[in-house]
Amino acid sequence: MLMFKLLKTSGSARLGTLKTAHGKIDTPFFMPIATTGAIKGLTTDEAKDLGAQILLSNTYHLHLRPGEDIIKKAGGLHKFMNWNGPILTDSGGYQVFSLSKIRKLKDDGVEFQSHLDGKKIFLTPEKAIDIQMKLGSDIMMVLDECPAADKDRKYVEKSLKLTTEWAKRCQTFFNKKRRDAINRVSTANDCLLFGIVQGGMFPDLREQSAKELVKIGFDGYAIGGLSVGEPNKVMYKIIEKTIPHLPEDKPRYLMGVGTPEDILEAVERGIDMFDCVLPTRNARHGYLFTSKGIVRIRNEQYKNDFTPLDKKCDCYTCKNFTKAYLRHLFISNEILSLRLNTLHNVAFYLKLMSDIRSAIKEDKFKQFKRSFLANEAKK
Ligand SMILES: [Zn+2]
Repeated sequence: MLMFKLLKTSGSARLGTLKTAHGKIDTPFFMPIATTGAIKGLTTDEAKDLGAQILLSNTYHLHLRPGEDIIKKAGGLHKFMNWNGPILTDSGGYQVFSLSKIRKLKDDGVEFQSHLDGKKIFLTPEKAIDIQMKLGSDIMMVLDECPAADKDRKYVEKSLKLTTEWAKRCQTFFNKKRRDAINRVSTANDCLLFGIVQGGMFPDLREQSAKELVKIGFDGYAIGGLSVGEPNKVMYKIIEKTIPHLPEDKPRYLMGVGTPEDILEAVERGIDMFDCVLPTRNARHGYLFTSKGIVRIRNEQYKNDFTPLDKKCDCYTCKNFTKAYLRHLFISNEILSLRLNTLHNVAFYLKLMSDIRSAIKEDKFKQFKRSFLANEAKK
């Protein structure tokens, strides 16, 4: 079955559609983050109204709390959080390496201590897929190891070997489960599995990783382990070096990136999918994205500013409130501040993606990128 359809290109930027069990998604797209099955500050209906096509949830967090068995009992994650659109779940690998206190890396998996209660947990590639299947995810990710940006070549080589081995095991287990599901005529047979390219900041290891994953064969390919502290230029270079080794007819996902600029740079290089905590996390800290750059809403200069946050934005926040009011809410620690800020930032990212898609459609991506960045710089 053809899952990904490439409709048009503008330079290397790609417009397409990705078919999932819970609907078709227009690419390139951005996934708001619903880590624990909740977008911080928004209901799923609000996210949908803002134009969210797909949400990202986190296997590690959901495994620890409430546990995949409870979610399965609830009828799956879609039903549990009242979201009928597609869901992508990561494998939990990144959180194991970034959040848990003690971890022991073994050939067959990783042992770690829950950051919530210290409980010891052993996560294997098979277990990571099994959890994602119980959640009822539409797009699942393989278990990988994400080395920090400063790791030396020897470490990254060893880590990559393990990541490739785990990718193979994830795929074998996934295929077996998918076959079983087809035999049971269950809907779980049309979920997708993505591989994750690693290899640190070494272009040749990235190439090797991409080639090994393509040989195993996945429904889509992610580039992981970027935006982990390296300069932006290095990140763009790694993307450039990786993409030629990924198939044209499969979606490409840049994990955990990034600012509007990063997204534009990555789309220009041929990336189709994004996720990032920035719009939601920054909203809670009063950093608001606008067509004229970042507004730090707590700043004194907005005290008497009775204009909308972004005149070009037609979200609920911008249509109904002034900067002075948003600043007042933020300074007063009102819960409404978090809600209105999040609503705007998510709207801003989703609008950016929709503008990007229109620009590619009209074969004007380069011009769009240039004018977007020039407007931001004017501030
Ligand atoms: Zn707005």
